[in-house]
Amino acid sequence: MKILKFGGTSVGSPERIKSLLDIINPKEKQIVVLSAVSGTTNRLVEISQAFLNNDKSKATKLINNLHHFYTKFISELFSTPEGLEQGANLVNYHFSFIHSFANDLFTPLEEKIILAQGELISTTLYQFYLNEIGVSSKLLSALDFMKIDEDNEPDVAFISEHLKPILADYPDHTLFITQGFICRNSFGEIDNLRRGGSDYTASLIGAAINAEEVQIWTDIDGMHNNDPRIVSGTKPIARLSFDEAAELAYFGAKILHPQSVFPAQKYKIPVRLLNTMDPKAPGTLITDDSERGKIKSIAAKDGITAIKIQSSRMLLAYGFLRRVFEVFERYKTPIDMITTSEVAVSVTIDDTRNLEEILSELNRFGTVEIDSDQTIICVVGDFAAQTHGYASRVFEALKHIPIRMISYGGSSYNISLLLKTDYKVEALRSLHSRLFE
Ligand code: ADP
Ligand code: ASP
Ligand code: MG
Repeated sequence: MKILKFGGTSVGSPERIKSLLDIINPKEKQIVVLSAVSGTTNRLVEISQAFLNNDKSKATKLINNLHHFYTKFISELFSTPEGLEQGANLVNYHFSFIHSFANDLFTPLEEKIILAQGELISTTLYQFYLNEIGVSSKLLSALDFMKIDEDNEPDVAFISEHLKPILADYPDHTLFITQGFICRNSFGEIDNLRRGGSDYTASLIGAAINAEEVQIWTDIDGMHNNDPRIVSGTKPIARLSFDEAAELAYFGAKILHPQSVFPAQKYKIPVRLLNTMDPKAPGTLITDDSERGKIKSIAAKDGITAIKIQSSRMLLAYGFLRRVFEVFERYKTPIDMITTSEVAVSVTIDDTRNLEEILSELNRFGTVEIDSDQTIICVVGDFAAQTHGYASRVFEALKHIPIRMISYGGSSYNISLLLKTDYKVEALRSLHSRLFE
């Protein structure tokens, strides 16, 4: 069985939804994972924000605008009176449900329920559409099998245990449809896999049922060698290893959700990144193998804070780093980069929710300094010890830019550099022309 995930732009208009059948062969066994129609989740975030601010009239206005968008959408998607009526009933139901939150206490719990509506609408509309044109499909509710635990980590064993029997109940069906992004948490409440999470859904389902392949269909022909939103002349990369793809996704390549590579990697499910607008383009294949001897791609992650802890107690001491790391562990704050000298250590974090508490604990070890508004630039490729000259090309490209931290040698496939976000665009462009042109 294959998993095919279509992102927001791939279901972004009635026309796009109709042309999915150019890619999906309903006779092949597959699970189709759909995102919300593009723009919808952003609108739902705004609606929730208005409710959180207790600005009910703003919320009402935003809900009516989105409702209007969908009314037009269904009028173009369906062509029979039954289809049009079913579509209108569905959309009316979801929007009166969203309106009903005006009467309740609004907390992050209600926000997650509102955010889930986008994927619930897109998948049901697609099933209604297939129904209208006589294509058989089975709609599965992701809320019946997608689950995260108390640390917000997905539970692959649970997903597998719950999804397999559901699929087994429909042995004659080939085309299954389900929602990306949404799940239940350890309390059974509606939750989600964070923004862009439909990729993660696809990979988790692939892992849970040991799929033959996971296909991520989006609006670009695969992972490019730099961020196409910032650098012109970027090119797709034919092959990446799981490690390389994970590194790029984590460090900002928006085409993939940051964690989405791990389930596929663990269960060795090949992942293909493909273009809905150009289905014949080869895209990117992600497997255990990679091409050696090349620099593959560059990515950037903003919103980074660097923390430097300077202490003479670190000199010739053991156990110092452990105590530093334990502070971050206590506040469940992941560290991205780390560099050390004999008397200082610098680390970076992107989750600053507990920064104040972390800093007050670190202050006990020595002098602490922080630099905010930093960006990690990550260059991914074959930096194994036997290859040489690549690192110098990276530094040559950045010689006019102040660099705050450098991490090299942690793995053989990446160099990470930390610099002020103000220099990001220049750094990406300069690296691109040095490394690829
Ligand atoms: P979807 O809605 O299908 O999930 P996304 O917007 O999440 O699509 O991801 C696709 C977008 O990712 C592309 O349109 C592109 O602008 C952006 N992107 C950022 N970095 C890269 C990269 N290195 N390679 C390809 N696309 C990238
Ligand atoms: N609709 C969700 C979002 O916009 C999930 C996704 O598109 O992957 O973040
Ligand atoms: Mg996405």
